[in-house]
Amino acid sequence: MKELLAALMIWIGANSSLPVPDAVPNVVQVDSVRLACLLEYIEPCDETKLDKTQKWFAYYRPPFARDAGLIVVSDHVDLDTMEGHSVLLHELVHHMQIAAKQTYDIECQAYGLEQQWLHERGSSLQEAFDMDEMYAMIVVMCYEP
Ligand SMILES: [Zn+2]
Repeated sequence: MKELLAALMIWIGANSSLPVPDAVPNVVQVDSVRLACLLEYIEPCDETKLDKTQKWFAYYRPPFARDAGLIVVSDHVDLDTMEGHSVLLHELVHHMQIAAKQTYDIECQAYGLEQQWLHERGSSLQEAFDMDEMYAMIVVMCYEP
């Protein structure tokens, strides 16, 4: 896993102005429904209120105490697939943004780089995640590589 994360961070560094930090975050997977409810503030947690894109949720928790940050990914995501790697890439962009103290265009840059990485592999956000075309356009339109 560390080698994969390091390779993805090197790709991000080569395709953006973000420096590649020494620290590699840890990755944990958690129950997809509980994660989606947590991030969408759905209480009590009701699976029927979730849409198809929400099972792909992940987030980045910045370094706490002396750890190197944590990537939390829904257990619906298979981390051995291209889609899983693109989810990790997105969260690694946040890891590198925080390491570089960048606070602007956070999601634009993360989705933009994820889209670019998927394009290089013959896919896209729409295709990989069955994402609505309009939504995918909105999430990447603000990003210029
Ligand atoms: Zn993000």
